[in-house]
Amino acid sequence: MAGLVPDVAEQLEFVRDIYNLAKSRGEQNYAACFKPLRSFIRFGLKEIAKTESEWKIIEDADIDGTKYAHETNAKEDLGRILDPSWVFDCPICQGFETVVAELAESELIDNQVVTARCACVQCGFVVGKDAEYMSKIVLASEIEKRREKILKELGQVE
Ligand SMILES: [Zn+2]
Repeated sequence: MAGLVPDVAEQLEFVRDIYNLAKSRGEQNYAACFKPLRSFIRFGLKEIAKTESEWKIIEDADIDGTKYAHETNAKEDLGRILDPSWVFDCPICQGFETVVAELAESELIDNQVVTARCACVQCGFVVGKDAEYMSKIVLASEIEKRREKILKELGQVE
């Protein structure tokens, strides 16, 4: 991946790592391995295709708190569905604390942080029940950064 823009290299590493994990699990749908890359490209295209008016609307929503309120509500809704859950930064759109990820309760009992389904309220990246293993790869570095805090709050640390 040398020579690539770091963000793009990371996305290609996700594809490779998800493919290897899917293969080891005997998954049949390898096209799903490209889902994070597809979301990354789609979000990037949306960003560069915005008009001045759209940027102004987004900027205004950021200033008056509308965007924050909308994202907070969306995260709360997701938190009720994905329980227990934790909020992470998005590795697809780089959103600050925009991904809500379900944590495997059975793993927390053993003091392991393993994510399952997840969704980003900024870019729309979603991992459903059909490919839960994907979130382990995509959120790996985020999990590492927050593991101690998550286990302190939700784990069985003695
Ligand atoms: Zn995102």
